[in-house]
Amino acid sequence: MRYENRSPDRLSYLWLQLDQNRFKPHSTSQESLSDPLAGRLSYARLREMRLIESGDFGYQIKAVTDQNGKALPTMITDSMMRVDLPQPLAPGASTSLIIDYQYNILSAKELSNRTAYEILQDGSPNYFISMWYPRLAAYTDYGGWITKAFLYGEPAIDFADFDVSITVPETFTLAATGVLQNPDKVLSRTQRQRLEQAETAQKPLFIITPDEAAENAVRQADSEVIWHYKAENVRDFAFAAAPGFIWDAQGYETADGRMVMAQSLYPAEGEPLWSRYSTPAIIQTFETYGRMAMDYPWPHATSINAPIRSGMEYPMLAANAPRPEKDGTYSRRTKYGLIGVVIHEVGHNWFPMIVNSDERHWLWMDEGLNSFLDELALAEFDPDAPLRSEPRDLAERMTRPNQVPIMTQSDAYINRGITGYAKVSAALTILRETVMGREAFDFAFREYVRRWAFKRPQPADFFRTMEDASGIDLDWFLRGWFYSTDHVDISLDQITLATIDTKNPDVEAEWKRAQKAEAPRSITLQRDEGMERRTDREPHLRDFYNAHDEFTVAPSDRKASEKLIAKLEPWEQELLALGSNLYFLDFSNKGGLVMPILLEITYEDGSTEKRPIPAEIWRSNQSHVTKLIITDQTIQSISIDPNLETADADMTNNHWPRKPVETRLELFKRAPQKNLMQKLEGGADDEAKSNGG
Ligand SMILES: [Zn+2]
Repeated sequence: MRYENRSPDRLSYLWLQLDQNRFKPHSTSQESLSDPLAGRLSYARLREMRLIESGDFGYQIKAVTDQNGKALPTMITDSMMRVDLPQPLAPGASTSLIIDYQYNILSAKELSNRTAYEILQDGSPNYFISMWYPRLAAYTDYGGWITKAFLYGEPAIDFADFDVSITVPETFTLAATGVLQNPDKVLSRTQRQRLEQAETAQKPLFIITPDEAAENAVRQADSEVIWHYKAENVRDFAFAAAPGFIWDAQGYETADGRMVMAQSLYPAEGEPLWSRYSTPAIIQTFETYGRMAMDYPWPHATSINAPIRSGMEYPMLAANAPRPEKDGTYSRRTKYGLIGVVIHEVGHNWFPMIVNSDERHWLWMDEGLNSFLDELALAEFDPDAPLRSEPRDLAERMTRPNQVPIMTQSDAYINRGITGYAKVSAALTILRETVMGREAFDFAFREYVRRWAFKRPQPADFFRTMEDASGIDLDWFLRGWFYSTDHVDISLDQITLATIDTKNPDVEAEWKRAQKAEAPRSITLQRDEGMERRTDREPHLRDFYNAHDEFTVAPSDRKASEKLIAKLEPWEQELLALGSNLYFLDFSNKGGLVMPILLEITYEDGSTEKRPIPAEIWRSNQSHVTKLIITDQTIQSISIDPNLETADADMTNNHWPRKPVETRLELFKRAPQKNLMQKLEGGADDEAKSNGG
């Protein structure tokens, strides 16, 4: 490898990532796995541990030399290798390293990972090869060399040009990052013709049909061939190789007028699911991500049915695991699982393959942004597809204990799938649908991609661009959603209905009398109703105060009032006679996250009104606020967030008046338990019955 120092610093050493060392005995990755004693241990985990202890895996670095064959001093720390240069590499200068190394490829059956091989039903192999060479670590302007060991967090690497030659038996079909340089040597004339037809096809065309693949899979190779690839300005290089690949492809024209190829390679085990959904899912990704982020920049995106766990992404090459059952049937979960994972892994071409965020530190910057867009793409693909990270899906999970903020280093995530993926996706959905609006969000999101394509953004670069390009202050939102583990729970606690004091003593006296008459009376007063009192029996005991109640108005009161009103401005006098209803709504923030209060008010005449209150209402008091609603109508009911936009975790306190929670109860009865006498002395029939119970 040739390394060019594009930094302004003199580099006296280089760091390389030895990802395979994760599988060496005593690697930090292995030793930092805790195995809680729960009375059980899976067969698979026990086999994995023994396999790693065998010492058969991880890199064997035989030699590291410069271009003249001179050995260079190295030091290996866990999954990182430092190579000391004979003299510091000046800015703009370049140097070459030659590394002689080998490692054993893991069997997917024994240790499922991001790169492995498997033996298929017809006995032919299927390889997915990635993280297969010592990769140069990133040297950054914000943190120098990124030397963090490989525990789980994916790599922090930089862009490079690749020239790769892979020697395989001639029966194999390959797919890889980059552009095949010698198609006339490794593809048949028919295959090349089909590829050309696929460029303008309206649906995927077979480049290798299932029948041809079945034949290739079992045919004896009589020679070896070299597949030669070049890739420019990509972070990484991966490839897939199998003699039994079925291959389909369909061209797609990007908005900027280029033809890019969507293609899928899979063994017979992937059928009938793969030929139906993999390539169309890639096309969907081109479309949705092209619109929301930027046009796909590379000549192809390829989806491989690989022997790995779930899915994994590389530039231009996505590895995806889902397969139908052996009998060709598949569940709803597998179907949408395949479409979803293809979109997700192909979507990673944008994050982090183009927008090159540091995965080893900030998992959410690629997984979260990608999960947000893959849900948009999945929803555009099929309305029946189950969405997983709508705000309401996150609401309850965000109340659970033992969470870490999104802004936590990747390896320290407790529940990656929630914190790094779904919560970020839900947060971005709330920004887009509720806080910023689609127009402002979409512009800012594209601007982020435009600014940071083929560069290395930090979290603040994303936050800053979203604010800067939209003109919307998001500090409150980012602080709560990205830096805390609070959740959303806004409660409508109390409503007070007020009307304005007219300052007319007669009107006010009448109002007070009516209030008193309508006020609920105590049980004692109710039971004493009609009781004969002393003043009834002896009327001489009644005087002036029995004839004039406490609200009686004196002429002097009227004069004082007239004087006071006369001093008011005409507009002030008008307001005294307003007669409107003034509703004071008391809200409390029980979850901790400040959010807009999305009110929907229903009036007595059946009409409804949306009254969103911005999140800034919480700026002077983060736990309690009161909002005044002035209306000539009578409010019948009020709801907060009726369209489930904000991930409010407790909807029972969102309604006035409160609504019953509806649920279904299952009736049950206890199953009879046999005692020991019955078990020992009972007949065989009884035994069978009790087992069946
Ligand atoms: Zn991902």
